Amino acid sequence: ELYNKVLELKGNIRVFCRCRPLNAEEIDEGASVAVDFEAAKDGELTVKSYGISKKMFKFDAVFSPEANQVDVFEETAPLAISVLDGYNVCIFAYGQTGTGKTFTMEGTNEARGVNYRTLEKLFDIIEERKNTFRYEVSVSVLEVYNEQIRDLLVSDSQPSSTAKRLEVKQVGEGGHHVPGLVEAHVNNVNEVWEVLRTGSNGRAVGSTNANEHSSRSHCMHCVMVKGENLLNGECTRSKLWLVDLAGSERIAKTEVQGERLKETQNINRSLSALGDVISALATRSPHIPFRNSKLTHLLQDSLGGDSKTLMFVQISPNENDLTETLCSLNFASRVR
Ligand code: ADP
Ligand code: MG
Repeated sequence: ELYNKVLELKGNIRVFCRCRPLNAEEIDEGASVAVDFEAAKDGELTVKSYGISKKMFKFDAVFSPEANQVDVFEETAPLAISVLDGYNVCIFAYGQTGTGKTFTMEGTNEARGVNYRTLEKLFDIIEERKNTFRYEVSVSVLEVYNEQIRDLLVSDSQPSSTAKRLEVKQVGEGGHHVPGLVEAHVNNVNEVWEVLRTGSNGRAVGSTNANEHSSRSHCMHCVMVKGENLLNGECTRSKLWLVDLAGSERIAKTEVQGERLKETQNINRSLSALGDVISALATRSPHIPFRNSKLTHLLQDSLGGDSKTLMFVQISPNENDLTETLCSLNFASRVR
């Protein structure tokens, strides 16, 4: 058996693997690298332990630590752009905390990520198509924490217990919607940047440790597109979800109690629900368990059917992280 797990391009689900570079601290400590990118251009990577080749994985694309945001977006753009052709799309980043999920999706001011680049590209194409299509774009930014939905575009100082409860509702045939969630209309890419900043700032509100909080919640952007073909009057409605998932690291239940235990169970539950949904879709199971978590319920319209899904599996190159790295790579393998 050549590959321990072979990830094939099955239907509309794609999996990209991205590995962060070693950071300064790890380099100082002389950390060993457990991931080998020799065949990265063929979508392959090998995970080694103590220099011994352990397992080979195959993805639709592999991004080594040298790959930059432009390289990553080049492969991502075609999928994201299909939202303008009426497809629902879901792009999410999965992995252990500190492996670059936020770097890939949100990025930094100097190295903007998939979220911003996608919207920038959408507006470029909207401009190109302006003689034949008219588009309306709006964006919602929300967070799922402890199985509760919080609107990150609403600046409320109220404690979450008194804040308006947001729930997923089904509207008409199949469409899912969160009544009450702010949908910010955006007309150009500058407005996009403002909305993304507002959402990002809203994430830290009310938490004593913003980093800790963001590693335990799912940060989700929903881009809603209404299109009208000016030549034949045909209309489309589509949705693009951009999701920075909670950290996938396993936290031993014996190590945590009370609120933290509940938090841990909710993260485990929603990430395994996501895995269950994707593997049910990949095996064409008649029952897709969307309702098992807020996360999958929210994403329901953009997973399965003729929608397009892209998962970034984010990993660390550090041998010390090998256990979590293998867990993440194995999670990705469930997609096949
Ligand atoms: P996560 O969201 O998965 O917890 P982050 O995105 O916060 O991880 O990344 C952890 C740190 O590593 C951040 O300082 C980030 O800027 C850096 N980092 C992650 N991926 C890369 C990369 N591909 N290139 C450069 N720096 C990266
Ligand atoms: Mg993060």
